[in-house]
Amino acid sequence: MVVIRGATTIGVDTPEEIKTAVGELLREVFDKNALTKEDVSAFVFSLTDDIHSFHPAKAARECGYDFAPLFACIEPNIEGGLKKCIRLMLLTELSREKVVKHVYQKGAKNLRKDLSGIMNIALDGPAGSGKSTVAKILAKDYNILHLDTGAMYRACGLKALREGVDPQDTAAVEKLLPKLNVKVEYIDGKQHTILDGEDVSTAIRQNEVSMAASHISAHRAVREKLVEMQREIASEMSCILDGRDIGSVVLPNAKFKFYVTADSKVRAERRYKELIERGETVDFNELHAEIVKRDEQDSTREFSPLCKAADAIEIDTSNLGIEESVALVKSFIQEKI
Ligand code: C5P
Repeated sequence: MVVIRGATTIGVDTPEEIKTAVGELLREVFDKNALTKEDVSAFVFSLTDDIHSFHPAKAARECGYDFAPLFACIEPNIEGGLKKCIRLMLLTELSREKVVKHVYQKGAKNLRKDLSGIMNIALDGPAGSGKSTVAKILAKDYNILHLDTGAMYRACGLKALREGVDPQDTAAVEKLLPKLNVKVEYIDGKQHTILDGEDVSTAIRQNEVSMAASHISAHRAVREKLVEMQREIASEMSCILDGRDIGSVVLPNAKFKFYVTADSKVRAERRYKELIERGETVDFNELHAEIVKRDEQDSTREFSPLCKAADAIEIDTSNLGIEESVALVKSFIQEKI
């Protein structure tokens, strides 16, 4: 299921205004996304509690949108919230690959300035290439969100380890999926990864979780679940996503795409330093071998392998420091912005 969102406002609470606003909102949602009746599973509206004169579901029906179930509910009255607002959640049967366009009209346009000018940056690359570090700095400099998608796969890997499930066993992983509850929260702009209500941001960095994440991320069902979450986040706000398949699969239409890489020895050294600083005992050669194995697993898997999107700019950080890498990425962004 793919959700298209929309919102609009009315000036006065009259049946005519509501009918016009709902009709205009739905028309734009349908036009922008080239929707047909068959694409739609349900219309869900919510209204602020200062609208009483007409039911939006009835308005939609009267405008000809009577081919799918219609539902409406009242939103809580939040101080400072937008008044006389009608929101829409359109449930569709569109393919997950499709990038949908959300529609914000009238007063609701101001409410979601972030949606009118969304900037998504895709940053892909192998483990230890420096993409996460670069992404964090760029997110801060551009004042946008950083979504570390690897953390989400790591949380899945951790869940499998905790439940004693072999992350390579497709049947067992698929059985585990309904019980998998991964969320991403932001506190002071910093991503926290939540597994079953527990903040596992530190636990997922353990070295044993890396391989479990690599194995579990190869399953189609796991990817479908997480890619949907990633797209939903990226459709709502400007963000920089780092991962393996962002430019190729998650956001193929992202305006900015980079593929950050580095020599495997250099990447192993970076991870080694990181783990030692965190107090873990690791052997460099073993770590290097693991990184090479993970690269191979990630780039040869059947679904969404690690790859450079055809239109991504390659950044080799083998001989670059963090500041130089950031400056290089920024120079390409500035050119296109
Ligand atoms: O980036 P990080 O090393 O934290 O990712 C852990 C693992 O998660 C990777 O080895 C990869 O298998 C998987 N991953 C993925 N797709 C992404 C991000 C990470 O398959 N977008």
